[in-house]
Amino acid sequence: MAPNLSDLLISISRRKNLVNQRLDFGDVCLVCDKSLSESMFFKQYHVCEHCNFHYTMDARQRINWISDPDTFQESDKLVYSADPLEFKTRLTYKKKLSGDSERTGLTEAAVTGVCEIGGVPAQLIVLDFGFMGGSMGCVVGEKVALALERSYKKKIACVAVITSGGNRFQEGVLSLMQMAKTVTVANQLKTKGIPFISILSNPSTGHTFASFPNLSDIILGEPGAMVGLQSLQVVRKESLDVLPDSANTSEFHLKHGMIDAVVERPKLKETVSNILDLLSSEYKISRKVNRSTRSTRKVSINKLNNNVWDIVQIARHDSRPTARGYIGKIITNFVEVHGDRYYGDDPTIITGVGYLGGQTVAIVGQEKHKTSPNETLKNAKTTPEGFRKVQRMVELASKFSLPLITLVDSSGPKLGIDSEERGLANTIATTISKMVNLESPSVSVIIGEGGSEAALPLIVTNKTLMLQNSILSVVSPEGAAEMIFQDPKKAKDVAESLKITAIDCYELGIIDKIVLEPSGGSHNNIDDAARILSREIIKELSMIQSLPKRKLVSERQKRFRNVGEYSSYFKQAIYNEVRYLKELVKR
Ligand SMILES: [Zn+2]
Repeated sequence: MAPNLSDLLISISRRKNLVNQRLDFGDVCLVCDKSLSESMFFKQYHVCEHCNFHYTMDARQRINWISDPDTFQESDKLVYSADPLEFKTRLTYKKKLSGDSERTGLTEAAVTGVCEIGGVPAQLIVLDFGFMGGSMGCVVGEKVALALERSYKKKIACVAVITSGGNRFQEGVLSLMQMAKTVTVANQLKTKGIPFISILSNPSTGHTFASFPNLSDIILGEPGAMVGLQSLQVVRKESLDVLPDSANTSEFHLKHGMIDAVVERPKLKETVSNILDLLSSEYKISRKVNRSTRSTRKVSINKLNNNVWDIVQIARHDSRPTARGYIGKIITNFVEVHGDRYYGDDPTIITGVGYLGGQTVAIVGQEKHKTSPNETLKNAKTTPEGFRKVQRMVELASKFSLPLITLVDSSGPKLGIDSEERGLANTIATTISKMVNLESPSVSVIIGEGGSEAALPLIVTNKTLMLQNSILSVVSPEGAAEMIFQDPKKAKDVAESLKITAIDCYELGIIDKIVLEPSGGSHNNIDDAARILSREIIKELSMIQSLPKRKLVSERQKRFRNVGEYSSYFKQAIYNEVRYLKELVKR
């Protein structure tokens, strides 16, 4: 059974530094009672290899573990805590401060400085639970603010490692104000596109959690770490239900969309380093056209199969590659981020960053969980949380000037009163709005089923491609048959009139290009399908990413203002109108 982290933590803290005393070699794990003696794994990571319990690391251990050797240079080392309020039992507070200082060798609960992580320069903020429970008093707030300002001025990434258990009540309302101070400064990082990553260790609660770490671009949690504004004890007191031990942990917050990933400590440095690399990368795909080898072949759409029902079957084929399948093949160093930081994490929306052709891109993919018995997952029906998750990625793309690639494959939005309650229509509208105003290049590809309002926000991009055997529809053929004939079985008869194939969409002027698939459909040769897709996305990207930000936005706005205007369908409609008017005039 999972340990009750909250109770365990309290019992550990009451044993007066027992963790450090007891967990020397020759000791046993406080959780599983297994021996930790001679465990190199424990020595390196402070993690029990038997039960995976992540023990608290002090600030110095953290710094040695996360920064590249001999690169850490501490800042503001001599800033000491005072007793600003001369707290009634001030001797106790002063005594506590000097006791913690003596024991930890620190002057405060925050240690800050500049280092390199995986070769990338970073400003480090590390809190130490051993010093006043890592709480945010005036000095901690000031050191955090100074560190964030240094990150801003030097234009280097900021990484914060949080272990903070509560509030510095001895500093009263001055302690409370540190939340506003750190948030004010953290806001600056947004304006300059500076990466900010927080790691939540056990525990990450109180004023600290409810301030600067929550504004990070990426929030990683350690397994089992207690995370939340309140400790589990307080949450339990306020709750009418009996809460499980897992309530208010990293895993709980991941499920509820508040953090991006739970990463085990041995993989944390590598993950942070990869994210820093991706978000600091300055390489762009450049366009090199060799005229002699340039293909002049154009897809002759007349020669493509446009049998609608065949295409519908292929678009929904059980083995048709999904967004995750393509991402796995065309994106390297992919870091998936989770959640909408509001309510939940929609598993049918995959978001993250990775390299495409050596350049960092932001990705959004609608993922059908084809074998799931759950209808919503199986058909990738997008929830309000899913749309908010997309919006987070749009904001990330904007902040770091990354191209945004979307892969569309959903039968439609998740309908029902629960979705309405959580703002389905609002999230659709605001996603469209953010997509149209994104200040970086964007390319969308319909890879399977482009279902109405779930697909639309994701295709509000500079370029829209469509795989040969994909469909884009305002209503599914079954839905249309139900409306017209009250019989979904007549879907095949209705499909043709809906104009849902790639050829139809191309002729309607909705998409820019049809991407060919291997013979019989992408499921027949997934590697080849991915290779062609990657080539086409890179080609489109290389053509638009040299455009200035303003032009990217204005061209996108123009495109959707005038959508359909120049298509053959609209030409015919206008021609009919003109003819009608001419006849009127003649009379
Ligand atoms: Zn253990």
